[in-house]
Amino acid sequence: MFAPRVGKVVEMGLKVAVIGQSAFGAEVFNELKKRGHEIVGVFTVPDAKGREDPLATAAKADNLQVFKFPRWKALKKDGGHTLPEVEQQFKSVGADLSVLAFVTQFIPVDLLDSNKYGGIIYHPSILPRHRGASAINWTLMEGDKKAGLTVFWADDGLDTGPILLTRETDVEPDDTVNSLYKRFLFPEGVKAVGDAVDLIAAGEAPRIVQPTEGATYDPLWKDPVKARIDFDKTGQQIHDFIRGNDRVPGAWAVVNGQETTLYGSTRTPSGGIPTDGKPVEIEGSKHPGFVTGQGLVLTGSDGEKLLVTSVKVGGKSLPAADLLGESSNEGGGKKEAPKVDEAAARAAIEAVWKDILGVETVSSDTDFFAQGAGSLDATRLVENLQSSVGLVIDPEDIYRAPTYGDFVKTVLKTKSSAAEYKTVKVRANGLELSLPVQHFIGGRFVDGSEGKTRPTINPATEEVIVDVADGSAADVDGAVTSAKDAFENGEWRKISARDRGKLLMKLADLMEQNKEELATIESLDSGAVYTLAVKTHVGMSVDTFRYFAGLADKIEGRTIPINDSRPSKNLCFTRREPIGVVGLIVPWNYPLMMVAWKAAACLAAGNTLVLKPAEVTPLTALKFAELTLKAGFPPGVVNVVLGAGSVVGNAITDHPSIRKVGFTGSTPVGKMIMGGAAKTLKKVSLELGGKSPLIVFADADFDRAVRQAGQAVFFNKGENCIAAGRVFVESSVHDKFVEAVVSDVRKMKIGDPLDRTTVHGPQNHKAHFDKLVAYIETAVKEGATVVYGGKRVGTRGFFLEPTVITGVEDGTVAATEESFGPIMLISKFETLDEVLKRANATEYGLASGVFTKDLNKALKVADGLQAGTVYVNTYNKTDVAAPFGGWKQSGFGKDLGQEALDEYLRTKAVTVEYW
Ligand code: NAP
Repeated sequence: MFAPRVGKVVEMGLKVAVIGQSAFGAEVFNELKKRGHEIVGVFTVPDAKGREDPLATAAKADNLQVFKFPRWKALKKDGGHTLPEVEQQFKSVGADLSVLAFVTQFIPVDLLDSNKYGGIIYHPSILPRHRGASAINWTLMEGDKKAGLTVFWADDGLDTGPILLTRETDVEPDDTVNSLYKRFLFPEGVKAVGDAVDLIAAGEAPRIVQPTEGATYDPLWKDPVKARIDFDKTGQQIHDFIRGNDRVPGAWAVVNGQETTLYGSTRTPSGGIPTDGKPVEIEGSKHPGFVTGQGLVLTGSDGEKLLVTSVKVGGKSLPAADLLGESSNEGGGKKEAPKVDEAAARAAIEAVWKDILGVETVSSDTDFFAQGAGSLDATRLVENLQSSVGLVIDPEDIYRAPTYGDFVKTVLKTKSSAAEYKTVKVRANGLELSLPVQHFIGGRFVDGSEGKTRPTINPATEEVIVDVADGSAADVDGAVTSAKDAFENGEWRKISARDRGKLLMKLADLMEQNKEELATIESLDSGAVYTLAVKTHVGMSVDTFRYFAGLADKIEGRTIPINDSRPSKNLCFTRREPIGVVGLIVPWNYPLMMVAWKAAACLAAGNTLVLKPAEVTPLTALKFAELTLKAGFPPGVVNVVLGAGSVVGNAITDHPSIRKVGFTGSTPVGKMIMGGAAKTLKKVSLELGGKSPLIVFADADFDRAVRQAGQAVFFNKGENCIAAGRVFVESSVHDKFVEAVVSDVRKMKIGDPLDRTTVHGPQNHKAHFDKLVAYIETAVKEGATVVYGGKRVGTRGFFLEPTVITGVEDGTVAATEESFGPIMLISKFETLDEVLKRANATEYGLASGVFTKDLNKALKVADGLQAGTVYVNTYNKTDVAAPFGGWKQSGFGKDLGQEALDEYLRTKAVTVEYW
């Protein structure tokens, strides 16, 4: 006896054909069977990417024949009639009733009507309101107080057939499309379809004609362009819009200049909506937004606020609180995940993925959602991992890292690395600094293979700041493996150039948000005067990342008119492609800025990198790595290995999988790099030393020339590659010039670099300080005169007086070798031709300058100087948009400007024949 739950008792269940797909179709199938109906046929969609639909799987388990029609009707252009083979197969199952469980295909009604009872359809709204395929979105976007579902009889219209039954629920204040579906429309929908079939079986199913009043037909809602938030709406309307778009297509706004998709809006967070936080700019809104540890607060036109808890920027989902750019790795209220065995966790992740996706194998690029999984599967994944191995993961992780490889790295990294890496706390400059101290490889901070460390010293106090990892060739190899994997298999190559630019922009924003910390660390580690560190060391680094972020999607090839192979035609075009894994080796004078000058162009071009900072200044490179982690760079894109040039630098130069080395440093080491790179035929770019001449003519604006010459030599304690290594002054103003310079130098305040009134800090490290003292002694031995300075200041710290030396003979060591310190060498000259010759009498050719009011003279000198940069009536005017690099033995290849991108790209010519 068949006993339906609804209606009277009848003899037999119905013979039902189930048409549909997805988990919902499978649950309806099971529900109807459970209620005693006989499923006589299942009609679902063809397999996608070799994976069958869950409804097909459920039916196969019952040995039922499954029909997978790509379409039921012929295309309109072919007559639009029901396909005969479909008709024949559909009728062959002999169903009394067809049940359409969330069907995506167009099913001919005349075919359904050939069943005894016709067909019934599930629809996720209370009809006649919200007809159409995006009913749930519209229910929320329209601010409906009730949501619901309808089972109706199929007819010729779109969602217009007579109603059989409806079910409804209150819309909760923070319901989203997802939550409404999961908590009500899916489970109650399955039951409602069961009830509807029971009513038909019992002969009690009504056919209530849909009223015309209140009917709406709402357009399909999946176009992200339309999902932009209108801030002229009230707070409640914006909240409704965000949740009505959550998660697809995702409502978005421009936050701090970046397109940002917003999820998880709430107007009722526990503890209420925060009233203050770090301001962010919201384009189109009269009210600025602000970010707190709870998320992003937005305000509607009526002043009503809402809190957004999750965002997606540059293709990556993040907690909205991360818009602060300073989410702590130190617990910060985050729940500690229980410890789990990593090997067991890996095995469990693999097993659960295979089970959910119904596949035999998973590889690092298997995409959870592209393989057909939905949000319910994501929930299953989370719950399954927790119950099987106790792995507690953030449900958002699967959206942040939808491919298998990235998911494993994200989940295990969250547990074992990103959340737990070692940092040392140091108080300085009124801040508590948090210093990472390990290598950064594959998105994790790790100890080196040999476990060695070395101290890094504060040059102002000669005290150890912290011990950091000291790497080996094996560490370089590990970093290269990660970088290669990220380049060849990771997300990095898959994201668009524009998204790459957005990530770089995000990194720049994070650097700016953390500029006080970065500048303080730079000051401690390199002796940079804090005010200069903020403006130049960090400020220009931020600008560099912003500049190259903007160029990322402007890397273009050309079309080339080659000869056609007649009678065929040919198309030839070039693509500008990244090179692969790039090794970057940088010096200590501007530790972070040198990283930025190279890394920004390298990453904008799409490469992955292994960076070696100078062994005496490793700290801001590690902070940079930390910020790439926070910005959401995929693991392995940025790697940092600390250690000596002779070990780590050498291993980078020699590594066969590194295809290019970008080097900044001294000319002798540059030559070694070039020789080493020849062994594996790597591309190299070399930014090397200089002995830049600065020529002051008697007709120059004297005060300006004196001031600028001082800056040209003493800027950043003279540890400046373009520092004017020799100042040539026309003899008629020479003595006056020397006097004026000395008068200025006397006023320079030397001392603690963190003191805001200091202009001259300590030299970078002891070996360099000793070298400078020896250089001054050599100049004196060679017959030159120290007219000011030349001595150590105090007994603690590597402080050297700014030094002015005259009477340097051409051809001496002092006249030809780079000092790289605060030492001004002033020489007399008589004529333009003579000074040009003397200025060029060096193997260096980095920068140069000329001061004169005579335009002809200025241009003639600019023409004649053999250097990559010539400044006229100015000096040190370096800009991110202008190419920078040397001539002669100052190297080749440019940093900065559009030309820098060429250093990190290779050209592929593609030739196509067509006819
Ligand atoms: P450096 O001694 O040449 O060192 C530069 C980098 O190369 C450091 O990271 C160093 O590691 C590494 N290195 C040393 N030996 C190596 C090897 N055998 N193989 C691979 N890498 C090796 O230069 P520096 O003293 O740090 O910097 C000062 C020089 O840089 C000056 O000549 C200056 O003019 C030049 N510079 C040029 C520019 C430019 O744009 N043209 C800009 C800034 C500075 P360690 O840390 O272990 O020594």
